Amino acid sequence: MNRSEVSGSGDARRSPPLDLVALVAWLAPLPVPNGSDLGPCWASSKVGYRTSDGYASAKVSARAPSIRAHRALWQALHGPLPPGLVLHHREDEGCLGRWCIRPGHLQPLTRSAHAVLHHRLRAAARAAA
Ligand SMILES: [Zn+2]
Ligand SMILES: [Zn+2]
Repeated sequence: MNRSEVSGSGDARRSPPLDLVALVAWLAPLPVPNGSDLGPCWASSKVGYRTSDGYASAKVSARAPSIRAHRALWQALHGPLPPGLVLHHREDEGCLGRWCIRPGHLQPLTRSAHAVLHHRLRAAARAAA
């Protein structure tokens, strides 16, 4: 029986090109309403598991290393994340958090700006409690 290959290039075992259209098709995002102006969060129906810290993790192919799905999708859209930057899930604006893979719900921030933002969010949450 022939193993069907999606493309004839035969290079699938090399780190797969994270083509945006292919990646979206593969991750098959499911909209999850969050009631905010950002629009629904996207949960991937293909994500194999979540990492211990709550991120959606996925494998593009059996041999590929696990990737953080939100990061892969963001980078497919915007290009490589510059060194020193992290992707913040815009929870302060309604995003439901780490498992969400919607690029529009992610904001690149420096590590220090990200730490400051989360410090502020925690303080606000404490004040509201
Ligand atoms: Zn979201
Ligand atoms: Zn964050």
